[in-house]
Amino acid sequence: MFIVLLGPPGVGKGTQCRRMAAELRVPHISTGDMLRQAIESDTPLGREVAELIALGRLVPDSVVLDIVAERLELPDCHDGCLFDGFPRTLAQAEGLDRLLARQYRPLDLAIELRGDDEALMQRMLRRAKLENRADDTPTTIRERMRIYHRQTEPLVAYYARNYLLRTVDAMGTPDEVFDRISVVLRQQRTSAAYSI
Ligand code: ADP
Repeated sequence: MFIVLLGPPGVGKGTQCRRMAAELRVPHISTGDMLRQAIESDTPLGREVAELIALGRLVPDSVVLDIVAERLELPDCHDGCLFDGFPRTLAQAEGLDRLLARQYRPLDLAIELRGDDEALMQRMLRRAKLENRADDTPTTIRERMRIYHRQTEPLVAYYARNYLLRTVDAMGTPDEVFDRISVVLRQQRTSAAYSI
């Protein structure tokens, strides 16, 4: 299954994707992680994106689409993968559709994790102290939240139009949220089995 996870920063996409990947046995593709790796390995790409990430801004669509395209070519993605933090703009969503269509694979599902902005900001500020991420400062957290609402949230409507969207309440413990996601995945598997 090819699944997109949408949701504001701090909502728990990474945590849930790791669990889902283990359950579904498909790779977890986090563009945030891939971009951070590029920064660590001090490549030209890394230097280009480091500043944008530190400011909480989006990396250009073409850069992100290139790294996703390259990742999707690897054989472990043949039967599916989970996209975490991608797509983040309409151009990226359209780009993903093109990449998958080129490989004759449809997107199966877009799961929107929905949370309360204020609670998420508090959660990220706590995480900032623990993880020491350069983009977890109060200013960048606010900027990432603003960008999410302006540029990424419209994708909820994009996927709803294609009947791919399922929304899950992400306020709760990681176990509670995972249980809700598991219900969606079971329903998806059942409906896919019927449509064959
Ligand atoms: P979060 O979901 O908490 O914001 P991520 O690890 O997904 O964290 O992303 C961290 C940063 O990496 C983003 O704020 C952005 O600068 C950059 N980034 C990650 N994915 C994308 C993407 N698909 N398009 C543009 N920028 C991205």
